[in-house]
Amino acid sequence: MPRRLLTAEILSVGSELTVGETRDTNAAELAAALTAAGVRVNRITALPDEFGTVREAFTAGVARSDLVISTGGLGPTPDDLTREAIAAAVGETPAVDPGLERWLRDLWKRRGVPFPELNLKQAWLIPSAIALPNPNGTAPGWWVDVPGDRVVLALPGPPREMRPMWHDEAMPRLRRHGIGEPVVIRTLRLTGIGESQVADLLGETLLRAPNPVVATYARADAVDVRISATAPTADGGTADPRADGLRAASALADAAEERVLQAVGRHVWARGSIGWSDAIGAALETAGWSMAVAEHGTGGSLAALLGDVAWLRIAERRADPLARTADVERAAASIRERGGADVGVAMSARPRGRDTAVSVVVVMPAASHRERRVAFLGGNLGRQRAALAAADVILTTLRGGNRSLEAVGALPSDGR
Ligand code: AMP
Ligand code: MG
Repeated sequence: MPRRLLTAEILSVGSELTVGETRDTNAAELAAALTAAGVRVNRITALPDEFGTVREAFTAGVARSDLVISTGGLGPTPDDLTREAIAAAVGETPAVDPGLERWLRDLWKRRGVPFPELNLKQAWLIPSAIALPNPNGTAPGWWVDVPGDRVVLALPGPPREMRPMWHDEAMPRLRRHGIGEPVVIRTLRLTGIGESQVADLLGETLLRAPNPVVATYARADAVDVRISATAPTADGGTADPRADGLRAASALADAAEERVLQAVGRHVWARGSIGWSDAIGAALETAGWSMAVAEHGTGGSLAALLGDVAWLRIAERRADPLARTADVERAAASIRERGGADVGVAMSARPRGRDTAVSVVVVMPAASHRERRVAFLGGNLGRQRAALAAADVILTTLRGGNRSLEAVGALPSDGR
């Protein structure tokens, strides 16, 4: 049994990335998948289409990490140099593989056009490599076994080719080879509190511990607290060492989560990668309700936040804020009526100094709630924050006035 692959690095090859024309979505997707599989991603590097630079990156990567995954540079043109760079890094010479050549030539025959000899290098292999089939393009990937139980994987750049090759070819092979340690990842989503305040309440001991790793992230729609616990796989001993490892990691994550909830639990409104619209949708579904919203002076921020969802009967926007709370109450009742919805929501936002004053009314079948908030900052950012404040008011109201804890436990979680 080869050694498990525990560390990885990702090389994104292509000058379109280093000149800023293309965003590196491949690396982010691969990093998320590797992390979920319990592999530590040591670094992500974007590289121009330069032979020496790319070769050096592979040489250094293989010296540092168990697994090096590249995307890009597998095209037929002279600037696509990933194959050449890997061959040089492992000291082997590429040669045309007859099977791949037949497959490639056949692709062109089916299209009825002559085979461009430039494409022949897409049929190359080196002795240590096997080809990963590409049903969506002309560039096969490479799986290269490197001495020391290390692996280099070269995937194509276009995401629609990279993704299926990763899921259908690379990942199953990696699993058979053995990757990652048992890992348990939990994300708690917070609102109504700043990142530094969260960090302050959690304290240095928790935030600096090596395992579980507890980290805070300020995102546009929440402050996230991410708990990531690992347990080394025991060698032998029990029937299922991996399951034992997962249980141990889970216990570590539970204990850390308990401490996080004690410190900041009242700010937690969701777990995992749930967004405001998902959370509100779930709360409505529990009651079997639909919703209608009217927003005034927010530039459609609330509708944008909620998105195109089946439970939203109408989303109406008006440029001017409403003058008085009574007007917001009337607007909520009216939109509920006109939308034929169970819940009517109206919000109004207006500049107050440098900030934005928000008024929200939620009318439900048997009760209603009104609340005023001040969203930090003005302008567009203020309007977006006003919508987030309204979403918090809506969600908390739908959960019976309790934002967090028990209510969160009932939420759907995607396990992240
Ligand atoms: P390739 O011919 O394999 O170098 O890839 C060509 C195309 O894939 C580029 O023109 C980009 O549109 C896309 N691409 C390459 N690398 C990435 C990346 N890291 N993230 C997203 N798209 C990429
Ligand atoms: Mg390229």
